[in-house]
Amino acid sequence: MTLARDVTCLSEPFDLAVIGGGITGIQVAREAAGRGLRTVLLERNDFGAGTSAATSKLIHGGIRYLENRQFQVVRESLRERRILALGAPHLVEQRRFVMPAWRWSTPPTALLGAGVGLYSLLGFDSNRSAPDSLRIPLPRWLSRRQVLSAVPWIDPDGLQGGFAYHDTLNVHPERLLLAYARSAAADGAQLFNHMEVTGFIRDGSTVRGVTARDGLTGISYEVSAAAVVNAAGPWLDLVLRPSGAATKMSLLRSKGVHLLTPPVGGHSQVTDTVFARTRNGRHVIVTPWQHMSFIGPTDTAMAQHPDDLAASPEDVEQILGTVNDTMAPNARRMRADDVIDTTVGIRPLLVPDAGDPEGDDPDSQEAAADTYTASRGHEIYDHSSHGAGNLWSIGGGKWTTGRATAVAMVDRLLASSALGAAPQLPMSDSGFRSDRAPVWGAFDWAKDAEPFLREAVQIGAELGLDPAVRLHLARLYGTDYHRIFDLVRDRPDLAARVSMRAGRHDISAQVVHGIDAEGARTLADLLDRRLVIGTLGPVLAEEIRAVALVAGPLWGWDAARIDHEAVREDERRRARRMTWQPVPA
Ligand SMILES: Cc1cc2nc3c(=O)[nH]c(=O)nc-3n(C[C@H](O)[C@H](O)[C@H](O)COP(=O)(O)OP(=O)(O)OC[C@H]3O[C@@H](n4cnc5c(N)ncnc54)[C@H](O)[C@@H]3O)c2cc1C
Repeated sequence: MTLARDVTCLSEPFDLAVIGGGITGIQVAREAAGRGLRTVLLERNDFGAGTSAATSKLIHGGIRYLENRQFQVVRESLRERRILALGAPHLVEQRRFVMPAWRWSTPPTALLGAGVGLYSLLGFDSNRSAPDSLRIPLPRWLSRRQVLSAVPWIDPDGLQGGFAYHDTLNVHPERLLLAYARSAAADGAQLFNHMEVTGFIRDGSTVRGVTARDGLTGISYEVSAAAVVNAAGPWLDLVLRPSGAATKMSLLRSKGVHLLTPPVGGHSQVTDTVFARTRNGRHVIVTPWQHMSFIGPTDTAMAQHPDDLAASPEDVEQILGTVNDTMAPNARRMRADDVIDTTVGIRPLLVPDAGDPEGDDPDSQEAAADTYTASRGHEIYDHSSHGAGNLWSIGGGKWTTGRATAVAMVDRLLASSALGAAPQLPMSDSGFRSDRAPVWGAFDWAKDAEPFLREAVQIGAELGLDPAVRLHLARLYGTDYHRIFDLVRDRPDLAARVSMRAGRHDISAQVVHGIDAEGARTLADLLDRRLVIGTLGPVLAEEIRAVALVAGPLWGWDAARIDHEAVREDERRRARRMTWQPVPA
């Protein structure tokens, strides 16, 4: 089932309308549709264009949350890590993490060790049903020499050694989110991107649906639904305004930035992710990704409107300063002009509201101001006691735990009276088990992806695609690589690469597939979330044009419109870079 739009279905009644197509909303749609609910999802921008595209690219338990005693969040996340890794092994990759321990480390080395041990214990079932290649090894202590040999740029001064433990990488979060969206569509959900929810349809104190406006055509719709779930992440409270629903919790927005740079210290052979803490207590994660380093995150409370989000030169300086503080004196320091690109997102964190009895506690208010220690758990609000029945909101959470949040949400929904005569199937009776279902495109559940990837590289040989491109396609699309190959078979011109730069393997057929099967409606949808070229650093004007030339005719654009849209997209991307790039002296 594709993500093609059928706006005629919007006039039919739904059991559930989901607001927001980030990982939370997509997982809710998947879970609800899988359990038989007629589900529609409305996303203002593109699927996964919000916070869900700006993560640290980790499917992880969140080892540092142990310090704040968020044991439940860590346990749930580790359980979900296993489910995601077994369900999408072509897009979730195991990684060794190295946590250096210096004599001055805080927490001290012994406590770090206890944390690593506890982390492993909380993931006690990580290897259940896992093939050998996906098994998470036990953590271990690395000697000083071993740490320096694995990560030569680490500061040796006072280094005692380090802990090695394993977590997993969300290699292309945008592609994995789309795979979940396709799974939801395959189970009957209707998903609409570029469709902004503008208000609520009410019948007294009960919400009966939403009003929405197509951002590209300007056409408005009334969508009736027995229940509405607001999964708008950092926009959660803004979406609620027209409903009149108040919550007892407020949203704390925390800005998080990452940098994409050449390999730190020039050490391109490093394969481990480094989780290091500086003397001032800041932490930095340096992940080797696509032959570059992905470094971050920042964590700063954000007072502005979430639409005004942008990385700044100060964010860049903060990350560079933190990583440089962990480097050997003779290692080449990272500078602002090393930065290839930035990503920026907002953590929608939950804090007790001043109106809430808990909120009067000075300790909790202090915690509220501290985005670093705020809970990463999710909360579900039922707005019926605020005069908006059949409306729920989901706050907080992590990418990793989106599925668990969705299960809890759909359970709540089914236990309520909102759906009336709709099928009320508990998870165990519906026959649908999202914890065991492979995601759309996965080669198989709980199987090593490598043999499938090798096969893909062999069978595409006659298409004139080089092996690196074939491997790229199999990794991104899983079983759907067949569809890309079919497109190339029918139209050999679609084998053309979008870019001739090294390390860029996207081809024109992905543009066609992105529009026909994956609901892309703008050049940014294609560049940033269907192809991967937009995530690898600045896209050249001629590369944008190459994509526009393939996409334009499919969207009914004439030559002049193709030129205009390509230029506009180039300008938009340049403007985004200007927010963080240092002004030349
Ligand atoms: C810097 C950073 C690093 C992180 N790293 C990790 C990590 O490594 N691992 C991990 O598990 N988690 C991580 N997280 C947390 C994780 O990314 C978020 O918890 C998660 O992506 C939130 O998803 P969401 O769907 O709730 O929000 P979003 O992805 O923001 O989705 C909300 C959607 O609602 C849409 N929307 C808003 N208003 C409307 C409207 N009126 N109508 C329709 N749609 C609307 C928005 O366009 C948006 O797409 C990180 C977060 C940040 C910021």
